[in-house]
Amino acid sequence: MERVLITGVAGFIGSHLADYFLDKGFDVVGVDNFITGNPRNIAHLKEHPRFRFIEHDVTRPLEVSDKIDYVLHFASPASPEDYRRIPIQTLKVGAMGAHNMLGLAKAHKARILMASTSEVYGDPEVHPQSEDYWGHVNPVGPRSMYDEAKRFQEALTVAYRDFHGVDTRIVRIFNTYGPRMRLNDGRVVPNFMGQILRGENLTVYGDGSQTRSFCYIDDQVEGIYRLLMSDYKNPVNIGNPDEVSILELARELLELSGRKDLQIDFKPLPKDDPKRRCPDISLARRLLDWEPRVDRKTGLRKTFEYFRSLPQEEWDRKTPKDFEKYIKR
Ligand code: NAD
Ligand code: UDP
Repeated sequence: MERVLITGVAGFIGSHLADYFLDKGFDVVGVDNFITGNPRNIAHLKEHPRFRFIEHDVTRPLEVSDKIDYVLHFASPASPEDYRRIPIQTLKVGAMGAHNMLGLAKAHKARILMASTSEVYGDPEVHPQSEDYWGHVNPVGPRSMYDEAKRFQEALTVAYRDFHGVDTRIVRIFNTYGPRMRLNDGRVVPNFMGQILRGENLTVYGDGSQTRSFCYIDDQVEGIYRLLMSDYKNPVNIGNPDEVSILELARELLELSGRKDLQIDFKPLPKDDPKRRCPDISLARRLLDWEPRVDRKTGLRKTFEYFRSLPQEEWDRKTPKDFEKYIKR
């Protein structure tokens, strides 16, 4: 049976990937240091005969004795609030973590897929964003620790592909949401849902005219799998092109939750917050015969149900994680 190693397995996307690959019959080795992840996301896999977990910081070298056929490098803080609070860890996991995982893939002659991001396009001047756009990124701004780490990771991946002949894939993920996100990670969907559960007004940054395009997790995982199994080695956008303003999203969520008593509070827009973001997915459509299937209403309802089902004390946990204790220097 083929074996896949997933870094960031205790995170949102990583844990769904683990489920998906186990369902398909793969052996899964999951790696995480829990810095932004949650042990609960993989608790159901503890007794699974084809799942093994290694607690490890991937910025340090990793050797695995079992033969690995595929590596999926998903370890990285992904929420702007998270990565601003742990900028050096973010840069290290995109650089040294990626380097270690490329080295592991090379040693095992494994295929490796790198989780990149729409953030490589920065605050884009081209709309929608297609893979041949080079981006508009501030190298010294409040998002630079993430954007530049991911850009470096792409460059390193291509160098390993061309210099060492490693079999590589790069997915550029656009805003993805669903169950198992951290309610207090600061990203817009869990933030709004946490506020609704606590009966607070929703905080829209700026005037809310900035847009995002939200992809439900099941669609994202299917796109990642198809890309991994394709023979295409350049970056591919995976996301849902259904673009919405943040103000409209807030209104949709108030409607969906039935909490029409709650209002919208406008807060300052963070610096370098991208004004528009929408994937051009023509390449994924053509190459992978993939397109998203879950509409926003359905996806948001499922996600809200998940957060609502969490123990109520978690709804109240407003303080971000204490990252210090997870950082092993
Ligand atoms: P997440 O924070 O839920 O998951 C990231 C996981 O990586 C966490 O479990 C964390 O503990 C782990 N991790 C971080 N640094 C590590 C290290 N040094 N060693 C071992 N484990 C480490 O975030 P997510 O939304 O699941 O994102 C997963 C990946 O997808 C990231 O690489 C992110 O950049 C990428 N991505 C996500 C989105 C999105 O919308 N969710 C968009 C673009 C890109
Ligand atoms: N945002 C907001 N209120 C919140 C959290 C986020 O208005 O409580 C906005 C944020 O300014 C950005 C968008 O929602 O324009 C998406 O933010 P998120 O942090 O989810 O991710 P990004 O796409 O910016 O990386």
